[in-house]
Amino acid sequence: MQALYRIALLAGDGIGPEVIAEAVKVLKTIESVNGVSFRFQAGLIGGSAIDATASPLPAETVAICNNAQAILLGAVGGPKWDSNRPETRPEQGLLQIRKRLGLYVNLRPVKVLDSLAGYSAIKPAYVKGTDLVIVRELLGGIYFGNPRGIFAKNGERMGVNTEIYREHEVERVAHRAFQLARMRRRKVTSVDKANVLETSRLWRDVVTRIGRNYPDVELNHLYVDNCAMQLIDCPTGFDVILTSNMFGDILSDEAAMVAGSIGFLPSASLGEHAALYEPIHGSAPDIAGRNKANPMAAILSAAMMLRYSFRLETAARAVETAVEKVLKRGAHTSEVARSGRALSTSRMGDLIAAETGKILKSGSPRKRK
Ligand code: NAD
Repeated sequence: MQALYRIALLAGDGIGPEVIAEAVKVLKTIESVNGVSFRFQAGLIGGSAIDATASPLPAETVAICNNAQAILLGAVGGPKWDSNRPETRPEQGLLQIRKRLGLYVNLRPVKVLDSLAGYSAIKPAYVKGTDLVIVRELLGGIYFGNPRGIFAKNGERMGVNTEIYREHEVERVAHRAFQLARMRRRKVTSVDKANVLETSRLWRDVVTRIGRNYPDVELNHLYVDNCAMQLIDCPTGFDVILTSNMFGDILSDEAAMVAGSIGFLPSASLGEHAALYEPIHGSAPDIAGRNKANPMAAILSAAMMLRYSFRLETAARAVETAVEKVLKRGAHTSEVARSGRALSTSRMGDLIAAETGKILKSGSPRKRK
């Protein structure tokens, strides 16, 4: 009997539907050659959901997600909804689904292929060979702590946020980082600000304790300011970077610039029983509807889904190898193509789907390094 995998498709707004269509194209190619079956169910989220239902995350979408083994999301947001009240902004849909499904860890791989080193914001000699993953805690820290707000005291306003980390929140994300390192080069760099913050001292203490369960994985600690420097100076020195919600948010955008285009970078948000995969980019209203967006980040997010949710490692590797091969041939979408002809979103999807099919039929996706 064919294995059946249920996928919730939340295409969202702007270029979301365009790039998700290409990821589905690649998954359908895998279906046709690999003896697996994907069942897609589409749901509304973000601005398109607000337009249709007045809610950025309708109950029907939550039900679709609960019924799926994995969620593939495009992007949400756009100028049309920018003046909405905070609770009816498209981004609320994304924050709510992360919270409801308990997606406490965000994985952001950053890989610089040799053929793309010249497109980085940093000199090629520094970035060539970069292959790291940021493991960001996603449901705790200063983004969620109370008290928070803007209060009046002694005749002036005062802004307050609170960073809280409980031991179990650090433990569960640390386990994920060490387990991931075991599938890679066995090195974890934990990033904190333990010279100043108590939450960071607890973080360092707990990570060190959890690390003892993984004696085969090298663990070191860096202060976040030093890590920000090292990411530019020597990005190839990192394997897995483990860090808190806010530090991860900032460092992952910095690391994205090492890779050259935001259109290449996928991500996975994982909980105990749910997983959501999405490109790191937004809805790119400036190019939406023009068949110009780079679909690679969405396609590589689908590859992460194949690996982490479905354990289809061969298929995941085939997709990643296909992307590399297509790029090596010099095929680029417009944000990367400096001269010469830029490919459309759908043409790029066609090439990657065809290459994925070819690799799977030949039975030899390149081994991951
Ligand atoms: P953005 O990522 O949408 O775009 C930034 C720049 O990168 C733009 O010039 C855009 O054209 C380009 N770009 C992005 N993705 C691309 C792709 N796949 N191919 C080629 N070029 C690409 O960020 P922004 O402009 O700050 O935000 C636009 C909207 O997206 C906002 O409403 C924002 O809130 C939302 N947003 C959503 C998410 C998400 O859904 N996870 C993330 C970030 C921003």
